[in-house]
Formats: sequence, structure tokens, C-alpha cells
Amino acid sequence: METVILEAGSPEQIRSAVTQAASSLRRGELVALPTETVYGLAACASNPEACAAVFEAKERPGFDPLIVHVSGKEMLETVADIPAETAEAVHRLISEFWPGPLTFVLPKTSAVPDIVTAGLDTVAVRCSNHPVFKAVIKEVGAPLAAPSANRFGSISPTSSSAVMTELSGRIPLIIDSGACSDGMESTIVRVEASGKPKPFIHLLRPGPVTVEMLKKIGKVITGKLLPPGEKPEAPGQLSTHYAPQTSLQLLTKPADFKPVAGRRYAMLSYRGQPKDGYIDLHPWHKVEILSPGSGKLPEAAVRFFFALRKLDECGADTIIAEPVPERGVGLAIQDRLRRAAASH
Ligand code: AMP
Ligand code: MG
Repeated sequence: METVILEAGSPEQIRSAVTQAASSLRRGELVALPTETVYGLAACASNPEACAAVFEAKERPGFDPLIVHVSGKEMLETVADIPAETAEAVHRLISEFWPGPLTFVLPKTSAVPDIVTAGLDTVAVRCSNHPVFKAVIKEVGAPLAAPSANRFGSISPTSSSAVMTELSGRIPLIIDSGACSDGMESTIVRVEASGKPKPFIHLLRPGPVTVEMLKKIGKVITGKLLPPGEKPEAPGQLSTHYAPQTSLQLLTKPADFKPVAGRRYAMLSYRGQPKDGYIDLHPWHKVEILSPGSGKLPEAAVRFFFALRKLDECGADTIIAEPVPERGVGLAIQDRLRRAAASH
């Protein structure tokens, strides 16, 4: 199968790409679409055959459910039954963070095929803020199942060329809208009544909507990663994921770096600052700096998968990653680094 890339830059290009993407989706085909987090591989969520093709293209195991995207509250109610005891909290979170990178795990309705939820009685739902994604879902007029547009377990794609590297020849169409603005997968939460005014917000996957932001609305409970091989409640809890092909070691302090003679090491640095103690440790084969401009975490998140992909392709034997501070979106970056490191 030949994979076509449609550029969606100018207003006319966007209009024609949206029309084409929507009619492909309605026909049951797959389309890779930009979102604010990473590129997603979309299919009509009500079409089990199209959803099966998503699993096939990604080589995703059947136990790892897909996220369903909706255009807003009204469409949400067609795929999820919001329990009365958490409805107020869920609606507060929705008014605060939708459209945006926050995914809810909620009891599913019968409109969602079992293949989408991997047989679970819950469904993960989000509402993207990306103008192209929004326009496509509006034109289709129905929920879209869209996990990240990469092969299972591999680095998430934040550009159309990364989708091409991952899925070329496996999907018919990619809509190219440039780089993703958040660069990190959505935050996934499950809301539980606490008996008090503030609900429990279980953080199933950290992401761009941070613990600090969620704390305003509820008591945030962070989960633990599962040991390899164990089946999770939410597959986002898999302890190995987001893995480059090159082995990756996440340091906690510069002294932990023990190079082996003859091996080529590449460095994934947070700010590239000598005073942080990592950048001058070694004559690195290649260096990528996550936040060379602002020296801040949101910039690091946007560049994270892009930088990881570059280091993966540079011919090094091992990628050495400097830790980032575990606050804000830094929690999501460290989460991805730990799982990438655990994959080898
Ligand atoms: P991706 O779209 O590739 O970022 O991955 C989707 C992730 O959504 C999965 O790995 C799960 O963590 C999460 N997810 C989807 N459906 C459910 C569900 N019903 N319950 C819990 N987590 C889910
Ligand atoms: Mg993914």
C-alpha cells in the first residue's frame, strides 16, 4: 500500500485535507491525523473492522485499548455513561480542560465496540483542541478511535515524517499539519467519588495536564507502574513503552555514568548546561538538548520524542538521558524516560 501525505498548511489545503480525511474515515479507512499531543491513527470508533485495522497497522496487542476522541460533551454522552456520583467533578474537569489533552476513563455505552476497549467495560475519551482534528471529527460527525500513530511500544510520532517512519506502507493517508504543540501524550485520569467535596483523581498516565493543574479540582492519586508481563487496568501503566531501538539509560546523578571502552554514547540533555553536570561528562557521539531555548519543561516536552528519535537514528550504542525535574510536565517526561529505559 502506498502512503500518501496531504499537507494541511494553508486554509485551502486544510479544507481539502479535512474533506478527504473525513470521507476516507467514513469509508472505513485509517487516517493519521495531527493532534496537540502526538499524531494519532484514526478510525471510525463504531466500525469494528476499521478499529481492527488500527491494531494490525500498529501491531498493537488486543489487550491495549484505544482512546476514543469526541467533539464535545454531547458526543461524549454517546460513548460514556458518566456515573451520577462523579458527574459534577467530571464536568468541572471538562469545562476546565476540554478541548485539550485530558483523557477520562469512564463506563462505556453499548455504542462502543468491544474491540475498541479491549473487552473492558470502560472507555478512554478525549476531545482534541487541534484545529485540523477538530474539523475532521466535526465533518465525520461521529467518534474516532485514535491511538498514537506508531508501532506498538515504540517512540510516539510528533511529525508526519515520524508517522512515515513508523507506518509507511501500512496506512493509506497522513494529514501533515507540522509539529505537535504539546509533544507528549494526553494525561489519562479516572475520577472517583471521595465522599468529600473534592473527588479522587487517579492519574493513570501523566501528561500535559499536570498534577498541579488537576489539584485545583481533586485529590490526585498517582499510580505505580506494573512489573513487566503483568496485565494492567490501563495499558498506559505498562512499565516498558516509548522505547527507542537503541538501549537507553536514565541517570539520576552524573556519577552514575560508567562508560564502557569502545561503546558510542549519545546524550539526551535537559538544558545542555555544563553546570548541570551531564553535558561535559563524555565526548558524546551526538547530543540532543530538550530545552535549548527557554530551559523550561514545556519546551522539553514538545521536543522530547523528536530528540529521542534523532538519537535513536544516530548510530550510538547507548542513549544516556539526563533526568528532568519531576514537576509540571516534567513528571510525564520522566515517566516516558523510565519506561524507555525499562524496555531494554
Ligand atoms: P495511545 O493512544 O497509544 O497513547 O494509548 C492509549 C492508552 O489509553 C492506552 O495505552 C491506555 O493507557 C489508555 N486507555 C485506553 N482505554 C482505556 C480504558 N478503558 N481504561 C484505561 N486506560 C485506557
Ligand atoms: Mg501510544
